[in-house]
Amino acid sequence: MLLSIPTLLMVAVFIFGLMGLLTLHAWSRGVREQTLGYLGSMLILAALGATLVSLRGQAPDFISLVLGNIVLLLGAALNWTAMRVFGGRPAHLPGIFAGALFWSLWGLMPGFYDDLGLRVTLYSLFTAVYGGLSVFELWRNRKHLEVAYLPALLLTLAHTGFYAVRSFADQGVSLEHALASTGHGTIFFAFLLFESMLYAIGIAYVTLAMVRERTELKFKAAAYTDPLTGIGNRRAFMSRGAQLLADCARRGEPAALLLCDLDHFKRLNDAYGHQTGDQALIAFSQVASQSIRQADVFARIGGEEFACLLGNADEHEALRIAQRICNSFHALPLLDAGVLSVSIGIVAGNAGEHELSRLLSMADNALYAAKDQGRNRVQLYQGAFSAPGPTSPATTTPPAQVG
Ligand code: GH3
Ligand code: MG
Ligand code: MG
Repeated sequence: MLLSIPTLLMVAVFIFGLMGLLTLHAWSRGVREQTLGYLGSMLILAALGATLVSLRGQAPDFISLVLGNIVLLLGAALNWTAMRVFGGRPAHLPGIFAGALFWSLWGLMPGFYDDLGLRVTLYSLFTAVYGGLSVFELWRNRKHLEVAYLPALLLTLAHTGFYAVRSFADQGVSLEHALASTGHGTIFFAFLLFESMLYAIGIAYVTLAMVRERTELKFKAAAYTDPLTGIGNRRAFMSRGAQLLADCARRGEPAALLLCDLDHFKRLNDAYGHQTGDQALIAFSQVASQSIRQADVFARIGGEEFACLLGNADEHEALRIAQRICNSFHALPLLDAGVLSVSIGIVAGNAGEHELSRLLSMADNALYAAKDQGRNRVQLYQGAFSAPGPTSPATTTPPAQVG
């Protein structure tokens, strides 16, 4: 089979160009992730570099051999930069221009044009180094990339390996052989062009997938977060809470739900202003977060309402934690003494008995009782926990009063 080098070069130019434009288009839409900007630029440079290299014999050697390879090396450097910024690091300007600068200076030296083998070796080594750096960036940042990075890492590793092998195994292809597409070096060069095309398509695709995945994660996190306090919102509570409840039920453990409502919050807003009210909400979320365990689910489920689901906690544990929250919030030196207070309704029992929404209405029942009895206190749900059916009102058994 005759593989026409000029035809393959032309196809490569079009593929690099098309992938570059599509990647830049993806970059220009949405969140303008820098990674896509660098990767799109890398592909456009690859198209330009391949065009210049393909002018060998028609344009001065300086254009094809010096300028063409400078552009290609800049492209390889931008590939590295794309992976670097994806890992959260800034672009490294000296590193980006190092390969191109070396090639520019070497291009001015006598003997440059005569040694095809050395040119192939050095160009391949530079490309392999930039490839190795790309792999290194993905590997060293893997813990916080939060996305499937392995396809990009393996693809780049294969690309790097190919150029590392080429640096000692390929002697290059002369112009006559390239034009005739037969003779020494043409098979390797044809394979190189295939490899470059596959890499360009593959890396554009997997990088776009990584960027998309991360964007989705960011949107999902925003949809589950309360912007004022930074803790979960109602959606997060219902989803993570149901999960925790199911886990506890599977393990046969008890669970407890704390429903917290800040007292006279409207009055607080009226007296001190909405901004101070916001500070109080933030302060409460901090106090409560510090009183629970990492595995518990805590969220702001309404204006001044917070819910906390404690896994593997019975009513004694729930009462203890609720009172700690109540005491700590009341003792905060944020406003005049006695202004900050919270009422907490608690329901505790076997996790497998009720759904989360049912637990919420039971805890709400207890919360009403706590408000009725003067606020700034915790109240345990007094209805029958294990008998489904209408909720009994919270009884007047002495509330676990704080203070
Ligand atoms: P109670 O002790 O019976 O719970 O009385 P309350 O005033 O706390 O309850 P009410 O439901 O009457 O008022 C809740 C107030 O919470 C009204 C609303 O302005 C305020 N609020 C809700 N969301 C926010 C918020 O994001 N920031 C601030 N500053 N206030 C909020
Ligand atoms: Mg309320
Ligand atoms: Mg309130």
